[in-house]
Amino acid sequence: MSLIVQKYGGTSVANIKKIRTVAERVIELHKAGNQMVIVLSAMAGQTDMLTDMAKAIIEDPEPRELDVLLSTGEQVSVALFAMLIKSMGYDACSLLGFQAEIHTSHLYGKARILDINNNRILDELRKNRIVAVAGFQGIDEYGDITTLGRGGSDTTAVALAASLKADICEIFTDVDGVFTTDPNICKKARKLSEISYDEMLEMSSMGAKVLEIRSVEFAKKFNVPIHVRSTFTEEKGTMVVEETQDMEKVMVAGVAYNKNEARVTIKKVPDHPGVASQIFEPILEAKIIVDMIVQNTSEDGFTDMTFTVAKSDFNATMDVLQDVADRIGAAKILGDKDIAKVSIIGVGMRSHAGIARKMFHVLAGENINILMISTSEIKVSCVIEEKYTELAVRELHKAFELNDEKGTKK
Ligand code: ADP
Ligand code: ASP
Ligand code: MG
Repeated sequence: MSLIVQKYGGTSVANIKKIRTVAERVIELHKAGNQMVIVLSAMAGQTDMLTDMAKAIIEDPEPRELDVLLSTGEQVSVALFAMLIKSMGYDACSLLGFQAEIHTSHLYGKARILDINNNRILDELRKNRIVAVAGFQGIDEYGDITTLGRGGSDTTAVALAASLKADICEIFTDVDGVFTTDPNICKKARKLSEISYDEMLEMSSMGAKVLEIRSVEFAKKFNVPIHVRSTFTEEKGTMVVEETQDMEKVMVAGVAYNKNEARVTIKKVPDHPGVASQIFEPILEAKIIVDMIVQNTSEDGFTDMTFTVAKSDFNATMDVLQDVADRIGAAKILGDKDIAKVSIIGVGMRSHAGIARKMFHVLAGENINILMISTSEIKVSCVIEEKYTELAVRELHKAFELNDEKGTKK
């Protein structure tokens, strides 16, 4: 008997027919003697629809109320799923974040899971019930509902798998697994049979939304094996696991892109000690997460500072920076939302030279201007104009020999 945690994404539970298919799949495994904990996302499009409803009232809805609203999407899914299971003659229990005692930080919209008290879930499993837990939500120290950020149901699933010491955590989605790049923009993407936690961390943080980054952090920290696979087939997908020696032989494992960032520049900042902290302190206070940072070489005692933030934080960043610029005497602030970041990722980079150079060469060959560059041990990222994203991804995918020339991808 195994304890299995499965998570089904929005497209997998998009309507009653699809939820029934999920229920049938779960019942088969339950009948085979496994204990089943099922994490569900909101039905496809619901989280966006709820966000739009809030924004129809006010551009920046109050975060506490927005979380109360957004968490209802997952509530609908688990209730319908439990009803379906029962209508099929088996027992089930739906649990919302607070009932499953998923305790989070007090940060609406971006809360972190701090601790899970799994007694209730274990109780329900002992009663031979299939347990359906609402993804993406938890409860903070004040008893208020929080949400974990977009894609957060992946994190709920992996955190539950870690807490329950599940034998496996299966993430069911609308593609067959983790591919060398997004199969929806590159027909020649190849499904990977396995990928290391570190590569998956970089892929997720560089924009591959197939797994939310925090879910991978949890998996790595608690050594939870994740199986990413399709809801619509029985085929094996991709295992996210500890690094093996074979993985080092591949120079680049994947290409990722992110169109959700914006770039801001503060021009002519007086260059003296403490100035970076004067710029970034208020940004941190506004709970804005900064990604790439570049400071130009100083000229005549002045420098330019450029960095990227999430597009959703762009307006707030510009507001904060306007104040900062006035205070520190910077010349002006420039903002650009039409950018994208393309990245190549692979643990093999540690032992192969010349990979960044090759990436720059490929982009130059397509006449794509590089606006910013950042590197880590296993990743190179370039910020480019957004309109070139798909072209850059396809060309890099080809140049690093990732193309599936047989066209086996379905
Ligand atoms: P779910 O609703 O099941 O959580 P998501 O839409 O969050 O699904 O994630 C699945 C999507 O991730 C795919 O449809 C695909 O477009 C995208 N994706 C981006 N990069 C990759 C990749 N490297 N491998 C697989 N899918 C990817
Ligand atoms: N429903 C949330 C979203 O659309 C969480 C999730 O699906 O993982 O982002
Ligand atoms: Mg997702």
